[in-house]
Amino acid sequence: KAPSLYDKRDVYYRLAKENGWRARSAFKLLQLDEEFRLFQGLTRAVDLCAAPGSWSQVLSQKIGGQGSGHVVTVDLQAMTPLPGVLQIQGDITQLSTAKEIIQHFEDCPADLVLCDGAADVTGLHDVDEYMQAQPLLAALNLATYLLKPGGCFVAKIFQGQDVTLIYSQLRVFCSSVLCAKPRSGRNSSIEAFAVCKDYDPPEGFLPDLTKPLLDHSYSFNLLDGPSHIIVPFVTSGALSTYDSDRSYPLDLEEGSEYKYTPPRQPPISPPYQQACTLKKKGKLAMEIRPQDCPMSTADGLPQ
Ligand code: SAM
Repeated sequence: KAPSLYDKRDVYYRLAKENGWRARSAFKLLQLDEEFRLFQGLTRAVDLCAAPGSWSQVLSQKIGGQGSGHVVTVDLQAMTPLPGVLQIQGDITQLSTAKEIIQHFEDCPADLVLCDGAADVTGLHDVDEYMQAQPLLAALNLATYLLKPGGCFVAKIFQGQDVTLIYSQLRVFCSSVLCAKPRSGRNSSIEAFAVCKDYDPPEGFLPDLTKPLLDHSYSFNLLDGPSHIIVPFVTSGALSTYDSDRSYPLDLEEGSEYKYTPPRQPPISPPYQQACTLKKKGKLAMEIRPQDCPMSTADGLPQ
């Protein structure tokens, strides 16, 4: 089969398929681990917003063998099962989903909470940044129930104008907060990851699912004056790895022959499924002729 356009343009997309990962995001987590040793001593982890599941695949390989419940994974969408991974289908901003996740960690908290949740991008940076804060804050709220002291929280973040507000909230709960950009993420994208280590909530802090984390007492006081937070920015992944903004030849190693690799695990019921079905039947984005539109004027323009 001929190389797809993505195969030609996106080396991490191609490598993900060739290495058996469900998505190119797997490289982001692996490169974050290279820098921050996220998997050191790891026994229990939660992967929020996990579909199609490449981060869960990585966790499954690291600790899935320790028994069911050591990796819990959550997404709005259904996900094909993975060995040793307990799956929950639900919205992480909903109380019912939160309660279902928490019950798995009541007796034994997690070492690591991940959230790669992404709101749909509009291209308007301020709007995207605000929208992206919602899954992150929902995940942080959940992490306050799930993490053991000293645990680690990693979440996708958009580096917009007001990102300091989020950092100040994260710093309330974790003594080390960094902003990391893996080499496999595109430079052109405002996507990065907040890596928050040493979970250590303020004395007397009681997790509360009904209280939004934008609460004044936990955030705004850290934004001004000398306590204004400047978070270190770090790139992760060795400089010798592929640059995601570059195109590479299809024969990556000299003499190696390109062979098309199909996606490892296509999504089982993606939200765009209906659009694909309509397209196959030629019914998507059909041309609208003036005579089909009863409200149009003689020159074809709507009234
Ligand atoms: N880390 C994943 C992987 O490696 O395969 C990719 C995650 S993908 C970029 C973002 C996911 O976030 C989507 O599958 C989407 O359904 C999920 N998502 C977005 N908002 C969510 C929410 N409120 N609750 C649960 N999942 C959500």
